[in-house]
Amino acid sequence: MSTLHKQMRQELESKELFDLARSHAFEYMDGVEGMDVFPSEDNLEKLVNFDEPLQEESIPANQVIDQLHFYGSPNTVAHTAGRYFGFVLGGAVPVSLGVKWLSDVWDQCGGLYLTSPINAKIEAVCEHWLKDIFDFPKETVAGFVSGTSMANLSALAAARYQLLKKLGWDINENGLNGAPKLRIIAHEQIHASVKKTLSMLGFGKNSIEWVPSDNQGRLVLEKLPALDNHCLVLLQAGNANTGSFDNFDAICDLANQAGSWVHIDGAFGLWAVASKELSYLTKGIEKASSWAVDGHKTLNTPYDSGIVMCRYPEALACALQATGEYIIYSENRDPLLYTPELSKRSRAIELWATMKYLGKRGINEMVTTFYQRAKQLEKGLREAGFHIMNEVVFNQVLVAGNNDNETKGVIEYIQESGECWLGGSTWQGKTVIRVSICSWMTTKQDIDRTIRVFKKSKAKMQS
Ligand SMILES: *Cc1c(COP(=O)(O)O)cnc(C)c1O
Repeated sequence: MSTLHKQMRQELESKELFDLARSHAFEYMDGVEGMDVFPSEDNLEKLVNFDEPLQEESIPANQVIDQLHFYGSPNTVAHTAGRYFGFVLGGAVPVSLGVKWLSDVWDQCGGLYLTSPINAKIEAVCEHWLKDIFDFPKETVAGFVSGTSMANLSALAAARYQLLKKLGWDINENGLNGAPKLRIIAHEQIHASVKKTLSMLGFGKNSIEWVPSDNQGRLVLEKLPALDNHCLVLLQAGNANTGSFDNFDAICDLANQAGSWVHIDGAFGLWAVASKELSYLTKGIEKASSWAVDGHKTLNTPYDSGIVMCRYPEALACALQATGEYIIYSENRDPLLYTPELSKRSRAIELWATMKYLGKRGINEMVTTFYQRAKQLEKGLREAGFHIMNEVVFNQVLVAGNNDNETKGVIEYIQESGECWLGGSTWQGKTVIRVSICSWMTTKQDIDRTIRVFKKSKAKMQS
């Protein structure tokens, strides 16, 4: 046995490195609420400690872990605490991190039943529960991918496969050259990841029939062109700026009559379905053909949790199928059938744990609370003289000052404060501040404090 081999065996036996990692992780957990929400300049400068050539010899494991903690932990973004409002991120429910640790030790290859029966089982259970929560048709299948970007890609590949198949064209055999022309119907406010996906699948931006969207970023129904069986219609549950929802009910009815395929990108918004107060926003989603949603945003699972769901299992499996003689099919679920990947981590475990821990009532409470905090912020900022630029229907609040310069100044002041973090965006030609509330950690007090920071920024600008 080489020295290195002996050393690694010894590390497994002594568990010292795991104790060290655990102690650093606990220190991080205890400190995350107090740390700067975005790293300070002083901390960022310490990142140079990672600029080093790879040395020749193996080094002790504790040095590796210490380096990551000392220079890495302070350079994280504290989105697992309560005052990160940038993009649409989301926190992590504690139990989801706990099961992730356990399953990380298992290190399963989640592609096949034969490489991980437990992962295959958990995926099947998650699929069942998700269909129940979203009230999707019983034939729907789910694939567990890294995020909504991959879920969108998978779903749109399924749509492309199925629409062409019905038009007498097998894309897996014949490719895109010479295929019947599909019509892509999208509104201007679909997410950048959907636009990217369309390009990756061979539908360039210029081939899209763009439909106007209204002042909340919803597709204008009256402007929808006549649909037919060549159409792929792209809708959205949760606009990344305003949080608005398309009119699924009416559009799906039209699309289904015409034999079109409707895909809903519901990365964070689809979970509104689980809130008694907000489920009206998702009316009609069950009539679509495919959906993409994240665990790692609204549901607060750790990162690397996206879900593609499709009413037509064949279409999804055929579009994503990797064929090769080394693939062994079993009678049980083979997760790779519904994802582009073969090897993947057993990521559905965190999703399973989060749903099981919260239960339907817990999910309802968490999602509804995001909305209530958003309303609290809206009210406080209006009273403080800020302009609210969207109808706050879900967890997103768009804020502006009296002019673009003032708004930019507010963003800069708040980002530098370290007390909370939020980003800028543009909405209808104006610079706006985008606030996204989607961590279970965000309390009323966090929102009060955030309102105070906004007020301070305004006072600073006027002084
Ligand atoms: C975040 C987001 C995506 C992309 O999801 P990832 O999980 O980041 O890949 C797509 N659509 C919408 C509406 C989003 O908010």
